[in-house]
Amino acid sequence: MNPWFGKAMILASSIVMVLIRAPHGQRSRGVKVVRSRRGALEVVLLTLAWVAFFVPLVWVAAPVFAFADYPLRPVPLWAGIFCLAVGLWLFARSHADLGTNWSITLEVREKHQLVTQGIYRTLRHPMYAALLLYSLGQALVVPNWIAGPSYAVAMSLLFAFRLGPEERMMLQEFGKDYEAYRARTKRLVPGIW
Ligand code: SAH
Repeated sequence: MNPWFGKAMILASSIVMVLIRAPHGQRSRGVKVVRSRRGALEVVLLTLAWVAFFVPLVWVAAPVFAFADYPLRPVPLWAGIFCLAVGLWLFARSHADLGTNWSITLEVREKHQLVTQGIYRTLRHPMYAALLLYSLGQALVVPNWIAGPSYAVAMSLLFAFRLGPEERMMLQEFGKDYEAYRARTKRLVPGIW
């Protein structure tokens, strides 16, 4: 198949992702951060995630990774489009439910509220689940061994090192409420983990 199908998907999904985040990011920035847990490792992993987000876009625009290209096939393309679409829907949904309590890193904001409703009723980390699904979608629609999995690798690393500290931070902040919330919800996969 023509790799431009994959390229069009990457362009469209990246634009949708930025459009979903932009208004929420702007609103959250207006709320003061009262505590931050952003350590050196978090900064390194966040930087890596940013770079990895742009790698597929570089692949779309220039032939720098052409040596690692392989042919695009219909099954991975359609499976990837499905993952991208569900990932973006979940991303929008979790941003809407989290409201101004959202942060790009480990932070507690002024008047921070523990969200346990909407999609957070089922999962504690729906936004991370959304980004992992989205990054899997990218890996499937980009027929390139570097640009395809780059975001999935960066996101997996970021969340592997973040889930524990984030839950400890929330536990310290919300005590028994978070403990009860943690007991009745799963992390990333509904009903499983
Ligand atoms: N891990 C969540 C949130 C990602 S944004 C998810 O994947 O959906 C990261 C910030 O959200 C954290 O710094 C924390 O301050 C905040 N946060 C995480 N879970 C929350 C919850 N249930 N209610 C309110 N804020 C939460």
